[in-house]
Amino acid sequence: MVFFKPHLGYLSDKAVNPDRRRYAVKGEAEKHYIDLDIYGDSAVYKLPRFWSEAKALHGEDSLRKHGISPWSTYQTFQNLIYAFERKDAQAILRLAADLGHYLGDINVPLHSTKNYNGQFSGQYGIHGFWESRLPELYASEYDFFVGKANYLDFPQNEIWKAIETAHYALDSVFGFEESLTRAFPEDKKYSYEDRGGITTRVYSREFSNAYHQKLGGQVERQMRNTIKLIADFWYSAWILAGQPALENLDPDRIQVPNEKDSIYIPNDSLQHIREHRTYFIFPESLFWRNSGKPLYFLQAFRKYCERRPRFLPVG
Ligand SMILES: [Zn+2]
Repeated sequence: MVFFKPHLGYLSDKAVNPDRRRYAVKGEAEKHYIDLDIYGDSAVYKLPRFWSEAKALHGEDSLRKHGISPWSTYQTFQNLIYAFERKDAQAILRLAADLGHYLGDINVPLHSTKNYNGQFSGQYGIHGFWESRLPELYASEYDFFVGKANYLDFPQNEIWKAIETAHYALDSVFGFEESLTRAFPEDKKYSYEDRGGITTRVYSREFSNAYHQKLGGQVERQMRNTIKLIADFWYSAWILAGQPALENLDPDRIQVPNEKDSIYIPNDSLQHIREHRTYFIFPESLFWRNSGKPLYFLQAFRKYCERRPRFLPVG
């Protein structure tokens, strides 16, 4: 409380940084998901819990190709422990924000399948529907009080448990959308709303409400799991670092870290970065590969275009 609370604004603003880095930093994109289905049945139980063992079994290139979120999230946690040990306030804030992002992604069912946007099942756009459109409409009704943080004896296991829960939710994520699509005529499934001055096709309120009802609080449940997990991981990192006295780090004197602008300049060699956190459904464009902040992203995109005329929205 003494350390994180004064920096709430920083932590929530910077929680989207890992998504921004995906287009610019090699090795970042695969930290946000794992395609469990490519490993066959019961993958969530069979995959090695430790990175070294997973590498030995599947090879690093292959692992990276299909996403490494369970292992890389744990590495971010370890880095947070080291930052606490050094009492490096800037690193603690930066890594706590990063870790929060990765734990959030892990709790999103669609971050655990290669069919992450319904592209293989005729349900294109479902990613943003589940993780952006539904919270946009219903988050004000969610209950985010999850109680106190707990120390985790075996953090790796908690990561895998969260992935398991998220992965098994996919059945309803896809199944309910499919049955509702059969029940709704196309012109009732979608509607048009203004997004940052652009008229955009979105899932209609009627369709969204029907999906929301069918899911029976699933999005809220996953968000609550995320909040609890983030609190537990931050707290456990602090315990494992020897419970350093953070009240001595005067929050007013801590300069919040500012990541260099240059790391967000798209790297042309990075392609096929999968989109998530979408508001926009059509057309498939860079505009909806954002962090739920279309206004911000449009500005950033214009800036990229100015700086890098060769940069085109591909991938
Ligand atoms: Zn992400």
